[in-house]
Amino acid sequence: MNQKEMSVGSAVSAEISKSIGESSRIDCIQLRGRQFFVKRDDLVDPLLSGNKYRKLFKLIQTPADQYQQLVSYGGTQSNAMLSLAALCHRKGWQFHYTSKPVAHHLKTNPTGNLALALELGMQLHETAHDEYEHAVRSLQSRADDSSTLFVPQGGADPIAQHGIHKLAQEISHWQQTNGVERLHIVTPSGTGTTAFYLAASLSAATVLTTATVGDNACLTAQMNRLGHIPDNLHMLENSNKHHFAKPCPDLLAMYRELTATGIEFDLIYAAHMWHTLLQHIDDIDGTILYIHSGGLSGNKSMLDRYAHKNLL
Ligand SMILES: *Cc1c(COP(=O)(O)O)cnc(C)c1O
Repeated sequence: MNQKEMSVGSAVSAEISKSIGESSRIDCIQLRGRQFFVKRDDLVDPLLSGNKYRKLFKLIQTPADQYQQLVSYGGTQSNAMLSLAALCHRKGWQFHYTSKPVAHHLKTNPTGNLALALELGMQLHETAHDEYEHAVRSLQSRADDSSTLFVPQGGADPIAQHGIHKLAQEISHWQQTNGVERLHIVTPSGTGTTAFYLAASLSAATVLTTATVGDNACLTAQMNRLGHIPDNLHMLENSNKHHFAKPCPDLLAMYRELTATGIEFDLIYAAHMWHTLLQHIDDIDGTILYIHSGGLSGNKSMLDRYAHKNLL
């Protein structure tokens, strides 16, 4: 184990034990003359950040001897991948992650979440594009062995409900303590798991989200796998087309405007969510609470891509 790996690992263990059972704090920012509250889930843990911490909370609490390995799949800069790597590192579980082929320059010189996850011991299994679907299906059957845990892409699994419910309880408590009557909770969607379970747990609030991967029809289909979509969950549309994780000047401008409020947000999900929210802001009365779901560890590799395209 090299020096860097040791320091990453011990930071993870210390932070996890510190944050179990504690609530994340709520800050207030001003943006374009309006007040917004921000639930600082980004501060809960440096690697198991934000909603991934919540979604994996049940597994964080699972005794280490329950599994020997965890298998999952997806993109190689994904926040979920890094969080799973941090979880497995702490538990002493092997972590096998299946992906499509990694670009050559990234393989020789990994950056961002990929670099961190590899340092945490992730074993990456690159699979050719035309074999990927098959490889993913065979991962699911590997979990028939009880020492292997299978986690679907992005942690889109009912196991997430437990930790998201705790987030909802923290929000309800804040809402009641402060006498907030009309509460809108804002959270961007990848798989939609966070928005879905938040809305299901919080009948006294409205949850506003937007599809970051694909469109609202894809997001609706994803959510339908978890159950009946709650009535207090609303999907907002952005009038500009943003492609997932693709550098785009209006998202960079949004990121910079947000950073100027004193809180850094992620360039992929949060920049798109805030950009969408501000297009609809005049129709939203009452109090707005944004769930900061972390993801900051991905900003460096995204900013590199902006620089590479001369957009910085
Ligand atoms: C993963 C992630 C999301 C999306 O969460 P889902 O539960 O998959 O919808 C949003 N924001 C950030 C920063 C994330 O890392």
